[in-house]
Amino acid sequence: MDQNAEQVLAALADRRPPAMGLYLHIPFCRRKCPYCDFYSLEDTALIHDYLDALLAQMAEFSAACAAYRVDTVFFGGGTPSLLTERQWNRLLSGVQRHFRILPDTEVTVEVNPDSATPKLLKALHRAGVNRLSIGVQSFDDTLLSAIGRLHDAKTATDTVRAAQKAGFDNISLDLMYGLPQQTLAQFEQSIRSAVALGVTHLSAYGLKVEENTPFGRMGDALLLPDDDTFADQYLLLCQLAREAGYFQYEISNFAKPGCASRHNLKYWVRDPYLGLGPGAHSFFDGWRFAFNRDLKGYIRCYRERKQRRHDLTPLLQERRRISEQEAMEETIMLSLRLTAGLDEPAFAQRFGCRFSELVGQWKLAKYERAGLLKRTEGHTSLTPQGFAISNLILADLLDWDERATP
Ligand code: SF4
Repeated sequence: MDQNAEQVLAALADRRPPAMGLYLHIPFCRRKCPYCDFYSLEDTALIHDYLDALLAQMAEFSAACAAYRVDTVFFGGGTPSLLTERQWNRLLSGVQRHFRILPDTEVTVEVNPDSATPKLLKALHRAGVNRLSIGVQSFDDTLLSAIGRLHDAKTATDTVRAAQKAGFDNISLDLMYGLPQQTLAQFEQSIRSAVALGVTHLSAYGLKVEENTPFGRMGDALLLPDDDTFADQYLLLCQLAREAGYFQYEISNFAKPGCASRHNLKYWVRDPYLGLGPGAHSFFDGWRFAFNRDLKGYIRCYRERKQRRHDLTPLLQERRRISEQEAMEETIMLSLRLTAGLDEPAFAQRFGCRFSELVGQWKLAKYERAGLLKRTEGHTSLTPQGFAISNLILADLLDWDERATP
């Protein structure tokens, strides 16, 4: 097993169940980016009322979570840096009041360069936030403007420096590739700029055009890079990140040793997490559930609850108990996102069947021969080349009907 995989396994072994992650959604953005499908609105006048509702929802869930300690908290969005210092103090003290927060909890806030002022960054650090995820996306001004971002490369650089000055020593930058007309050289420059800032973590996502967005409605006029360039950009990212001392622990995530996101790892190893706010998802007590993407309905619901308690049904978009079959498929899909890969003995113990027999020995051998997958010491994992086409490989492996020898 390679050194990176060992580091991830050590990080996972360090988890102390029953601990859960807490995700709090801040569904506001100054202006909606034309590619974005996350649930967020430009209606910032509702922030105050929303925080009332979110705090009420935390109070409502605190009894259900009483047995769990919380070891990661993640404020995502949207743009959490639109909240004022006062609103942050209210929110953070609500979290402390309603949940059993462990002393060394990882507390992450997503911020955008156009709203994360040095004053706010200092206040967040003082209030106990110990990790920032900064939505930079690119250090190329032309591309930033083409994807509708409100900041330029200089503002992004200034924000990272201000965060470091405020005391943050665990900073993640988000980058994007596969952007309209983005060249390999432009993406290389962005990766090198991010690395030069000395951050501890990089997340890089290929643009996925969602139908219900302005980009989705543009069709071919968007001038996206072709599949080969897209894959080349991804492989370049893996190479440059490795050369700069970041170990890849997930398809899209790279960290300096000891700086993998503990919160995001919970999603991939199926640890419990509770997500509150409209559009937030949870995996908790064997259930997956998500709240409606309806900010006004959410606020109204918690206003009415002050007068009378009623069940969560009107707020829930989906709620289902995960079957054994689904748990098995999820384990395969999520484990193979990690460089540590799928632990075959643990899989056999948990599900009473062998992974290789389930997906078909011959399929694993086929991908191994092609350099897309490797199997070492009971672990199966994808290589960077395999990650670049992971959707195809996973769809093939999960096609149970084709598992028999051809
Ligand atoms: S800032 Fe982030 S969450 Fe907001 S619209 Fe842009 S991509 Fe979406």
